[in-house]
Amino acid sequence: MTPPVVVIGGGIAGASVAYVLGRAGQAVTMIDAGIHAASTVPSALLNPVRGQAGRVPDRALEGLPFTWALLRELAAAGHDIPHGATGVYRPVPDAKTRAKFDRHRPDGLNAAWRRPAEVPFPLSAGWEAVLHLPEGGWVDGAAFTQALRRASGAAVIRARATDWTADRVTLDDGSVLPAAAVIHCGGAVGASWASLPGTHRAGTMLLLDRPATPAPVSFGAYLAPAARGGVLGATFEAPAAQWGPEVLPLASLGWLLGKGAALAPLAGTRITGTWRGTRLSGLSAGRDGDGVWHLRGLGSQGFLLGPLLAAELAADVVRHAPGNAPRA
Ligand SMILES: Cc1cc2nc3c(=O)[nH]c(=O)nc-3n(C[C@H](O)[C@H](O)[C@H](O)COP(=O)(O)OP(=O)(O)OC[C@H]3O[C@@H](n4cnc5c(N)ncnc54)[C@H](O)[C@@H]3O)c2cc1C
Repeated sequence: MTPPVVVIGGGIAGASVAYVLGRAGQAVTMIDAGIHAASTVPSALLNPVRGQAGRVPDRALEGLPFTWALLRELAAAGHDIPHGATGVYRPVPDAKTRAKFDRHRPDGLNAAWRRPAEVPFPLSAGWEAVLHLPEGGWVDGAAFTQALRRASGAAVIRARATDWTADRVTLDDGSVLPAAAVIHCGGAVGASWASLPGTHRAGTMLLLDRPATPAPVSFGAYLAPAARGGVLGATFEAPAAQWGPEVLPLASLGWLLGKGAALAPLAGTRITGTWRGTRLSGLSAGRDGDGVWHLRGLGSQGFLLGPLLAAELAADVVRHAPGNAPRA
């Protein structure tokens, strides 16, 4: 009997891979240590225009509709995934930044500049203009990831994989699982455990008792609705070569609150908690020399790009699976 494909890691990358493989009729076993999944982010922006230079990453214009279509598919199958197809608003502080955004704007991006007074809710004073991205929005990361895991039909084993080759995975209790293929989607913690390259950037998000704005607003930091209340995200701690348990960064919380208040009025909003995670950058997807597949380094774009790249990787894995391997 052909063994299952084994996916190491059950965040948005691993869960999306497992879902697409499951849909293709492939038996899947998912190994997940359940430690530090960045994909549990309470409100992930689906925002194709990134950072303070307004760059649009490769594949973002494909990733955005792909993620929304996947979310609709899961919702139609009965999965409850809090989200808002609300659009995203990107205020810019000056004409120079606006020109930078325009320079980086690719053909095909659905976006329009608005005067701050034209935004349908109050922003703080001082913005030059606001780029409206009507196809953006937000999604509850944990619910989306959980829905993909459930819908994948994968057998999930709560364990840490300690060693793997192209056709077997060893777990921390010493057991060995044979595999038709092995796909490593270990995120930040998994990259550290496996000494894989990438830059780790911890971030803390403040949970709010209500959304400060009805749609995400982002420049430097972001305000967004969430399943319960809203969020103000996120700090950017110093980049590190390894993942380490995140600590509450008191010094950068003041910075974050300042950035949030600069976006929209926060009066009357209460902080109800914090969420911490680490972004791993250094995007890489494919097959290593030893035959093991991987998808990692999604940075802060796990939900924008992860499902699309996972679907492409899963299609490659199916093509190369025993019995389907292309003839030389
Ligand atoms: C502050 C912050 C803000 C963010 N904002 C956004 C946003 O606005 N938009 C957006 O799209 N995304 C956002 N994200 C999420 C981000 O995109 C992440 O890159 C993404 O969620 C990573 O997904 P992943 O599946 O690669 O890894 P993870 O979600 O980290 O999952 C990896 C899983 O693999 C498991 N694992 C690792 N190694 C092993 C092993 N050897 N054996 C067994 N299990 C293993 C881990 O325990 C973990 O459960 C944010 C993240 C952070 C931290």
